[in-house]
Amino acid sequence: MTDLAILQKRYADLGLKPGQFSACLTEDGFAPPWRITAIDRGWCSLLGLDEGGQETTQRVRTGDWLIAVGDWVLLSSRAQDSVVEQVLDRATYLRRATRGGAAQQWIAANLDTVFVVAAFGPTEKLERRGINARRIERYISAVHEGGAIPVVILNKLDVAGRDVEQTQALCAELASRFGAAVVAVSAIEGGGLDVLAPYLEKGGTVAFVGPSGVGKSTLLNVLTGRADAATSDVRATDMKGKHTTTRRELSRMPGGALLIDTPGMREFAVLLEDDVVPGFDDIEELATECRFSDCQHESEPGCAVMEALSQGALQPDRLKSYRAIVRDGQRASIKHDAKARHEQRKSDKQFARVVKSAKKFKKR
Ligand code: GDP
Ligand code: ZN
Repeated sequence: MTDLAILQKRYADLGLKPGQFSACLTEDGFAPPWRITAIDRGWCSLLGLDEGGQETTQRVRTGDWLIAVGDWVLLSSRAQDSVVEQVLDRATYLRRATRGGAAQQWIAANLDTVFVVAAFGPTEKLERRGINARRIERYISAVHEGGAIPVVILNKLDVAGRDVEQTQALCAELASRFGAAVVAVSAIEGGGLDVLAPYLEKGGTVAFVGPSGVGKSTLLNVLTGRADAATSDVRATDMKGKHTTTRRELSRMPGGALLIDTPGMREFAVLLEDDVVPGFDDIEELATECRFSDCQHESEPGCAVMEALSQGALQPDRLKSYRAIVRDGQRASIKHDAKARHEQRKSDKQFARVVKSAKKFKKR
C-alpha cells in the first residue's frame, strides 16, 4: 500500500468517506481532517490522527459554521488558536426544522446506519398494541431523507410470546412494508444481538432513535459493554485555561463502529412523536392495522378503524372528535411547513456555502 492508501485507510476507520478524503488533498499535500465528537458553546471537540497516525483529540473554536456531531472539518491556525475553516461535504445527515420556525437543526452528520428502535408490548396485548408501524414509518422516512440507512430493531422479544417462526414471519412482513431490514432482539436476554454485528464494523457510524422506554439505553449498554452510556467524557482545557468537561457524543463501540448519541438525537425522537393524538390511543392503535399507512379512515379498503366502527367496537362520536383534532393538526402543520420551507431555503444557502468552500479547497 502507498502511504496515501494507508492514510486513507486510517481515516476510513474514523468514518471518512473516499470523496471526503479526496477533498483533503491539495497541491501542497494533505490537509488533515478532524471529526466533531461534541459541540459546546462555541467550542467543538475533535477526533483525528496525529503525525504518527495515532488517534488524538483536541478542542477548537467552532467559528460560525453550521456544524453537527459527526461532521468532518478542516482547521486553520490563527496565531496559536485553531479554528474550523471548512466543513467537508456531508455523506449523509439527520436534520429537522425546529418548532415555531426557528432555524433548521442539523442533528448529526455522516451516519451510515440509523437504528430505529421499537419494542414488543406485553404478550396479551401484542396483536394490536405491540408494534406501532406508522410511528416506525415516520422514523424511517426521516432517516431516508438524509441518506442514511434505517434498520428497524424490535426489542423486548423476551416478552413478545412469539415463537421463532412467528417472529421471522412478522419481521419479513414488516421488512417488505418498510423497505428496511427488520431484526427482533432482546437487550435484556441478549437474544439476536449478533445480527447487529455487520452494522457495527469498524469505520461505520451509527445512531439509535425511537421513543423512550423501548430500551435504547439498555441496548447501548449491552452493545458497548458499559454499565453507563454517559461515562465517556473528554476532559479538555479551554483557551482561558479552565478545565471543562464535555460529554463525548461521538464515541467508539467495541466492534469499531462510531456511535453518535447526542441530546439532539433524543429530542428528534420526541418530536416525531408529536403527531400522535393524545387521548386517542385506541384509534391510533387501530390505525396501525390499516392496510395503507396513509389511510384517512374514510372509505379505504382494509381500514381497521372503519371495521371497528361497523362492529360497534368504536363509538361514532369518538371517531368524529378524533377526525376534528387531526384536521386541526393538519392545518397547523401546513402553516408550519410553509415557515419551515422558508427556513430550509435559508439554511440550504448556508449549506451551499459550506459545500462551495469545500470544493474550492479541493481545487486549490
Ligand atoms: P430507552 O428510554 O429507550 O433508553 O429505554 P431503556 O433502556 O431505559 O429501557 C426501558 C425499560 O425497558 C427498562 O425498564 C428496561 O429494563 C426495559 N427493557 C429494555 N430492554 C428490554 C428487553 O429486551 N426486554 C425486556 N423485557 N425489557 C427491556
Ligand atoms: Zn383506516
